[in-house]
Amino acid sequence: MGRTIRGVIFSGALETMAPDDRAALQGARLADLVERLRKVDSPYWRVKLDGVGPVRGLEDLAALPFTVKSELRDTYPLGMLAVAPADCVRVHASSGTRGRPTIVAYTRGDVEVFAEVNARAIACAGGTPDDVVQVAYGYGLFTGGLGLHYGAERLGATTVPASGGNTALQLQLLADLGAAGLCCTPSFALLLAERAAARGVSGLRVRYGVFGAEPWSPALRTKLETAWSALAGGTFDACDIYGLSEVIGPGVAMECREGKGALHVFSDHFLPEIVDPSTGAPLGPGEQGELVLTTLTKQAQPVVRYRTGDLTSLVDEPCPCGRTFPRIARLTGRVDDMLVIRGVNVYPSEVEAVVLADPDVAGQYALVVDRSATLATLEVRCELAGDGDADRVADRLAARLAERLRVRVAVAVGPPGSLPRQETGKAKRVFDAADAPATG
Ligand SMILES: [Zn+2]
Repeated sequence: MGRTIRGVIFSGALETMAPDDRAALQGARLADLVERLRKVDSPYWRVKLDGVGPVRGLEDLAALPFTVKSELRDTYPLGMLAVAPADCVRVHASSGTRGRPTIVAYTRGDVEVFAEVNARAIACAGGTPDDVVQVAYGYGLFTGGLGLHYGAERLGATTVPASGGNTALQLQLLADLGAAGLCCTPSFALLLAERAAARGVSGLRVRYGVFGAEPWSPALRTKLETAWSALAGGTFDACDIYGLSEVIGPGVAMECREGKGALHVFSDHFLPEIVDPSTGAPLGPGEQGELVLTTLTKQAQPVVRYRTGDLTSLVDEPCPCGRTFPRIARLTGRVDDMLVIRGVNVYPSEVEAVVLADPDVAGQYALVVDRSATLATLEVRCELAGDGDADRVADRLAARLAERLRVRVAVAVGPPGSLPRQETGKAKRVFDAADAPATG
């Protein structure tokens, strides 16, 4: 676990291993994991591994059963523990969309891995031990704040635990403490950039962002990099971090600044597969499917072949940064984010990619779904970035969306700043017609 030069590749040799050596390590860890889980005295693990044959290495992975989100809910609060409760040093929770939250637990070793993978992630974006890193993800039960916090400390950076919200204070701290790194949701980064520009904040030295917890498009990256480069007077790298609490939290995979467009999966800890979402059959490189993850080293609450619900594909090309971790394409969305508009499948990320690619449009938008008719309809609401002809922009976007989505959607373009801004939490982009924000 080398602390290396300028934080460029944080874990050194572990991140640049030859693929065959890493496969051997993963195979040995997988075999150990299954043997350990067989010995756990718990109804959950007895049932899960019932009928599972010997696991010698990666070749036996596909014979293991999948794990799905509802198993965490059904075993609430801690029925999936693989250690004694007293060996846990922390829990996190994700808000339950259907009632109960799901709880995830960590041993001291798990917390160390959590810090290490987030240190790697910040280094992927360009972070170094000499940096000030401001963490503007929410702290608390949500994994974002504490995950990046301990990652930044492990990297050796000076960590500013700003948590979410309070844009005025955030901007003051960014300027006065001179943060090089900003960790937050991409929507919050956009809001901070808007407010900084509006207030004429000077003295910013931010060089990179570790942006995640929401799906976001390359078009939003362009907007973020343009805005922050202008504010801080230099280049700015907006990089995507991926994770989920069921696996560990942020730091499962990370985009590096040299190879934007795909994310390195830290596969010495989190073993990725891509499967067909309907059949569960494994898919090859380049084929889009559901990401499935197995935690190879997690102690307190491992998951075996966890169905993330996130859609992506394996990218089979070496990365110029030198890391040899496999990469996944930026996530197109979740299986359950899909909207059916006039009978056609539409992912919100596809809409974002079209709308935010228009230079006359600002970064804020909302998708309003009206389900009152037999076939649901969609209206896209967005804002002008500056002076512009709203009607002409709306016509242009409607045409581009029809071409990309193969379905007709309405577009309403308001003046700059006309949509409501959200200060905390994951950005809500999709609304039912009854409770949607109006433009202007
Ligand atoms: Zn890379």
